[in-house]
Amino acid sequence: MNKALRKPLIAGNWKMNKTPSEAVALVEEIKAAAGRETTVAVTVCPPFTALDRVGRLLEGTTLALGAQNMSGEASGAFTGEVSAAMLRELFVTQVILGHSERRTLYGEKDEVINKKVLAALSASLKPILCVGETLQEREAGQTLIVVGAQLTAGLKGVGSAQAEQVVIAYEPVWAIGTGKVATTAQAQEVHAFIRAELAKLFGKATADKIRILYGGSMKPANASELLAQPDIDGGLIGGAALEAGPFLALVDAARKG
Ligand code: PEP
Repeated sequence: MNKALRKPLIAGNWKMNKTPSEAVALVEEIKAAAGRETTVAVTVCPPFTALDRVGRLLEGTTLALGAQNMSGEASGAFTGEVSAAMLRELFVTQVILGHSERRTLYGEKDEVINKKVLAALSASLKPILCVGETLQEREAGQTLIVVGAQLTAGLKGVGSAQAEQVVIAYEPVWAIGTGKVATTAQAQEVHAFIRAELAKLFGKATADKIRILYGGSMKPANASELLAQPDIDGGLIGGAALEAGPFLALVDAARKG
């Protein structure tokens, strides 16, 4: 419903892949084919070490630069961390927060993720807030409870005006990097639920403007059906974002979607 209010977004999460020179090579290819794309919003999220070089390459294109994580703190004694202001200076405009790998491998809790969401918004960075259930939670019938709790906790303290800057990524943990994709019905059910929750938090008009991406083994072969769903507004792409061919095919699918 009201899908026309939301430009589709295809965001590539490169995770811990690509050295700076490899990143440049990939972005050159993406830029050559999609550097002037206007129907679909396209974001690349390289590792921190490649942001500077990739950001310079993206200047003058319609492609956006995203980071994969950041600190919720502004500055100080936080060894190994990177702040929102540091990212902004590299022309980063979006940041993935609460990815399931951060939650499970690095123990990030909802409170920490919420602090990051608020810090990103204060620095005019658009958060891509990831939510999603594990297989065990799905099998126990807990999907909507888990996703609802992650969403509400992650967005605590976000005002309605700021909420339009947020992107939600529904990423069922069991579908990430496993080749198992959620069925269109499974994905649409959760996306519709997320939009209804967003409407409770921020009002329907705002909820209708917030993009909800699907993530989890999205590939050219399964993307069109997912992207045609009324509440699926694009994809957060892992494996298929590491080469230009499949990534650009996903941009094409979103253009047609
Ligand atoms: C991700 O980690 O955000 C993701 C969706 O990965 P993949 O596409 O490889 O499942």
